[in-house]
Amino acid sequence: MMNAMKDARTDLKGMPLPELEEFFRSRGKERYRTRQVSRWLYRKFAEEFSTMTDLSRDFREEMETMCRISSPPAEKVELSLDGTEKVLFRLEDGEGVESVLIPEKSRRTLCVSTQAGCALSCVFCATGASGFRRNMTSAEIIHQVCFAGRRLAERGERLTNVVFMGMGEPLENVPEVSRAIDILLSQYGFGLAGKRVTVSTAGIIPAMRDLADRYPVSFAVSLNAASEEVRSRLMPVNRRYPLRDLIAAMRGIPLRNGCKVTAEYVLLSGVNDTPADARALARLLSGARIKVNLIPVNPHDQGDFRPPSPASEERFRDILVAGGVQTITRERRGADIRAACGQLRGAPAGPRERGKSPLRAIASSKNP
Ligand code: SF4
Repeated sequence: MMNAMKDARTDLKGMPLPELEEFFRSRGKERYRTRQVSRWLYRKFAEEFSTMTDLSRDFREEMETMCRISSPPAEKVELSLDGTEKVLFRLEDGEGVESVLIPEKSRRTLCVSTQAGCALSCVFCATGASGFRRNMTSAEIIHQVCFAGRRLAERGERLTNVVFMGMGEPLENVPEVSRAIDILLSQYGFGLAGKRVTVSTAGIIPAMRDLADRYPVSFAVSLNAASEEVRSRLMPVNRRYPLRDLIAAMRGIPLRNGCKVTAEYVLLSGVNDTPADARALARLLSGARIKVNLIPVNPHDQGDFRPPSPASEERFRDILVAGGVQTITRERRGADIRAACGQLRGAPAGPRERGKSPLRAIASSKNP
């Protein structure tokens, strides 16, 4: 029904700048129009051509007839006690996706979604438990950034970092994620430095190598285990791209001076948080430019996983540090509004929700 009513005009949002230039060129427009319009889209976050006041009225009216600027509505904005903001967007086909804006000292980091749902079924993740619905378009991905940029600008603030770490596996949606990265890094887009854009992946090795060759962005890899066996149980994608190959690929990512790849490690009490796990992880990462980000699991209503005790967490970190691995524990943000890592779902549970979670099986197999 909604698709039948879809607006046929060309959507300018999410169009990489060379494409936007070609769009104007093929319609006989001057080259500078690209810069002019993209500044309005990505620096002033315009959603209507009528607000582009330094463009002639004739040009604005012509634009109105042939193009549009998609802006899916924010259906719900939730504010956490710690200042984290979660926004639920309702997309044109009715799908719901979420982004999370995290303020920390001088940083304003936006965590964006790239898929409605996710097919990878990591067992500790609420998004994975809701199943895969579809890939998001670059317009839908970039709209989350525009929306946050506009909200921050209203307070006299600016977005400093973007992480592709929301709902979905970005590297299962490479074409649209690439288009979004083009706009984030472009001088006439958001103009962000590569080190301020992080792509988080569950370990889709060929796509990670491809993206690392094309963009100077940072990578965070969701590792979560130091053995093939545990990782395969936590993350079914490990059967496609095994841990040993993944670590080799992480070691091979080209890095600027002083930069490291991040290994995300969700700590699950009694599953992957023993001293033996920590020692095995330290051995795996030995000598690599990889730092570890420890994330005590955020409980959500899909499962029984619990975070380790503070003492176990500290012991785990100490073993890694003693093994020469730079390690930080991620501060939990937005947990009271279910905006923390692994808690995003995008919409109230629908009919696609799985009847049975695999969580109990995993937790019980490690907790006899
Ligand atoms: S952790 Fe990431 S890759 Fe795994 S199921 Fe959740 S969204 Fe998908």
